[in-house]
Amino acid sequence: MEEQLEKLSKISKEVLKFSKSKTEIGVSFFELATSIEAKIKELGAELGCPVTISANDIAAHDSPFADDKRVLKEGDVVKVDHGIKLGNLLSDFAFTKELGSNKYSKLIETSEEALQNAIKTVKAGVNVKEIGEAIENTIRDNGFVPVRNLSGHSLDPEFFHGDIQIPNIKGGDHVLKEGDAIAIEPFVTDGAGWVVDSGRPSIFSLIEERKVRLGSSRELIKFVSSHFGHLPFSIRWLPQTVTLNLNLADLVRQEVLHAYPPLRDKDRGMVAQTESCGIVRKDGFELIV
Ligand code: MN
Ligand code: MN
Repeated sequence: MEEQLEKLSKISKEVLKFSKSKTEIGVSFFELATSIEAKIKELGAELGCPVTISANDIAAHDSPFADDKRVLKEGDVVKVDHGIKLGNLLSDFAFTKELGSNKYSKLIETSEEALQNAIKTVKAGVNVKEIGEAIENTIRDNGFVPVRNLSGHSLDPEFFHGDIQIPNIKGGDHVLKEGDAIAIEPFVTDGAGWVVDSGRPSIFSLIEERKVRLGSSRELIKFVSSHFGHLPFSIRWLPQTVTLNLNLADLVRQEVLHAYPPLRDKDRGMVAQTESCGIVRKDGFELIV
């Protein structure tokens, strides 16, 4: 393993350990996300995207606001997702933990098992449809439903999510090559298996820098572009000006920014996710975490 990749792997594993131990009843969403983000920086890496804490029927993209009052409670099925950047390398990984209960153990174990079965199929020359098939078969065999409109992906240091999709169902058609960096993330539910936007977004990314009329919106574009480029960022990481919400809405409307609202299962089913990432090698998959 090359040196930088080894360092990223070491940091990611340490963050995962920290994150799992910190995900407990009584911890606030804000405290959990910000302490993990601080840990990533303390270990010498940067944030590839905001830490997200998506509970129960929320599958993804829920990152706390600066004034978020929510607290993790008994029975919550919590998905914690991380994106770490080290130089030109990224890692992307997530786990699901049920707090103080075992009602959804099988759902969570199914997402872990689907990930393991997917990992076994990966090597240079494999078609992503084989990965999707391994994931869907594992999930269906356990009596659950894969989330069809969420998928794994290649990792791109400029945009975080690259162009290659790694499906969670049979489908897709792309042959992986040696050196591709990919994340695999089965989402499993007892609900519809289709996620819809739910609530106010706290995560955004820059689509394209463009001339806009409002001066305060122009300032925000400048800040975003210089600090994050095209990588996803949290509303928490921005200067908390009085016009912030107005500027964000203005820039989303003009398609300068993309908004990522929380995604929830359409039938409000419980959702579990396990995510890992690595590099496609000639004979297999070299896991980063
Ligand atoms: Mn992720
Ligand atoms: Mn991912």
